[in-house]
Amino acid sequence: MPKNKKGEKRVSNIPQKEEKGDKVVIYKPNMTVLMLAEALGKPVNQVVLKLMQNKIMASQSQVIDRDTVELIALDYDFEVKDEVVTDAARFDEFKITDSEENLVRRPPVVTIMGHVDHGKTTLLDTIRNSRVALGEVGGITQHIGAYQIVHNGYPITFIDTPGHAAFSHMRARGASITDIVVLVVAADDGVMPQTEEAIEHAKAAKCPIIVAVNKIDKPQANPDRVMEELSRYNLIPEAWGGDTIYVNISALKGTGVKDLLENIELVAEMQNLRANPNRLAMGTVVEAGLDKNKGPVATLLIQNGTLKVGDTLVCGDNFAKVRTMEDDRHIRYQEAKPSQALMITGLDGVPQAGDKFMVFSSEQEAKNIAAERKIRTKNKELEENKPRNINDLFNQIDNKNKELNLIIKADTQGSAEALKNSLLKIEVPDVSLNIIRCNVGTITEDDINLADGSKALIIGFGVRPMPNVKSSAATKKIQIRLYRIIYDVINDIEAALKGLLDPVYEEKVTGYLEVRELFKISKIGTIAGCYVTDGYITNTALIRLLREGIVVYEGKLATLRRFKDDVKEVKMGYECGVRIDGYNDLKVGDVIEASVYEEVKQ
Ligand code: GDP
Repeated sequence: MPKNKKGEKRVSNIPQKEEKGDKVVIYKPNMTVLMLAEALGKPVNQVVLKLMQNKIMASQSQVIDRDTVELIALDYDFEVKDEVVTDAARFDEFKITDSEENLVRRPPVVTIMGHVDHGKTTLLDTIRNSRVALGEVGGITQHIGAYQIVHNGYPITFIDTPGHAAFSHMRARGASITDIVVLVVAADDGVMPQTEEAIEHAKAAKCPIIVAVNKIDKPQANPDRVMEELSRYNLIPEAWGGDTIYVNISALKGTGVKDLLENIELVAEMQNLRANPNRLAMGTVVEAGLDKNKGPVATLLIQNGTLKVGDTLVCGDNFAKVRTMEDDRHIRYQEAKPSQALMITGLDGVPQAGDKFMVFSSEQEAKNIAAERKIRTKNKELEENKPRNINDLFNQIDNKNKELNLIIKADTQGSAEALKNSLLKIEVPDVSLNIIRCNVGTITEDDINLADGSKALIIGFGVRPMPNVKSSAATKKIQIRLYRIIYDVINDIEAALKGLLDPVYEEKVTGYLEVRELFKISKIGTIAGCYVTDGYITNTALIRLLREGIVVYEGKLATLRRFKDDVKEVKMGYECGVRIDGYNDLKVGDVIEASVYEEVKQ
């Protein structure tokens, strides 16, 4: 066991070296007969036969235990060694697990979510300020993305970034740091779109929800209505026989906040949150930035282990030797325990929120891993510029979880419901379909974030995403599939679930035009004076006419002109005259989406 300078024992995040030999089989847990045959470089049939000679009946996909692997390997004069996980691989894998006997209770990490203006920031402020009332020193605080309070002797960590973007961004990067979500709903306003979003995010992250019914000081406050509305989302109050805790509060006046904190403690206790403080620290970046005086800074949430000043760590693709650690009150710490979040200095670059960090006992090793990761990230960025297609998505999901997550955005409630019902009827053995969001309206940034966090596919039915949302989907490699016909959706999804879908042609959107003027010409129809805002349009383009993101017409171009001339193509930044084949009911402000069919290169 490595000892640090002070001679204390902390469990390392494993410095072991892998050895390679000529005739060595590396045993991995869940090794199959086929994997063994490959490791031995022998035909699988021969290995199956050899097993049979040893009175072991096993098919090639069957998992065999270590003794069996050794038996066969020895027969071929191979030595068996256990898989040795390198530091770098361990960091990639990032498992926050420890053996039972080393675990002790850790504080809960709480995120506050809810609709805009329902009081999230006020609540975070009130709780932060309650520290003074709870006997802690006051003073000027700084925003570091998280703070901790001590209530009834128990600490609680709050993530101090209200809103869903931070939460979904973190989840999208594979970080689930929240143990409990406090859903703030204003009692004078009730359930609003972002309330619904918050519920979806919390449920997708499998976080328990405590509902804080806020603004009960207002005369119009109607907490019962909130309970009624939220019951539709399966958040049934305990008073009505459910298991969701509701607390009436006034974040502004501080009423009920103590009660809320008590309930957080209660839920945390039920969750049995534990960690091992006696190991090198690992966790997640809550917030990071570049400070004029301090250089790169990052707020690290310790999820396991103890972080100490002087520790060497890898954080995302960066290396750090922790120089200082401080909390939101500028208080300096020499060490930080599980669930504490402190801002550190000593980084060689700025990580991103959601990046993971891990301490290594060897400074050189940490430096090497950070350098390796920097190169890997660069290569990955270069290589991955193609959006995922449904097959890739299926393969990925099939291998890991055997489930396909879908987000459905439709033009009407009727089509949303119809689609949902039809899709849920698809049955493919061993693969499950989860509809994590199904509502009306165009595809938004929040849908992309939810899709990113849940590895979901977005189905747009009669709706189109705006260019900014599309480019964000492309950056995050979220697949958006757009449809007008329910059967097409069902066929595609069914095919994807069965792993059969093999798209040969795919629609490629080439550009967007804004309708700025209309000219009605008798006998010919309406000519739209347009401006190409993005990409380009060709005279053979297929077009969709969008009004507020909803498809109002789909068809072909009749003419594409610049001044009086027919042209083949018009690029971004140019004006043109467009006539749509068989459609004249255009309006100024409409958006025309132009596309072509292209062969998909797999
Ligand atoms: P956020 O957008 O969810 O962070 O909401 P804010 O915390 O910024 O609050 C929005 C507005 O509601 C502000 O003007 C607050 O002062 C007010 N507000 C927040 N909580 C309460 C409350 O409990 N009672 C009353 N009357 N107003 C509140």
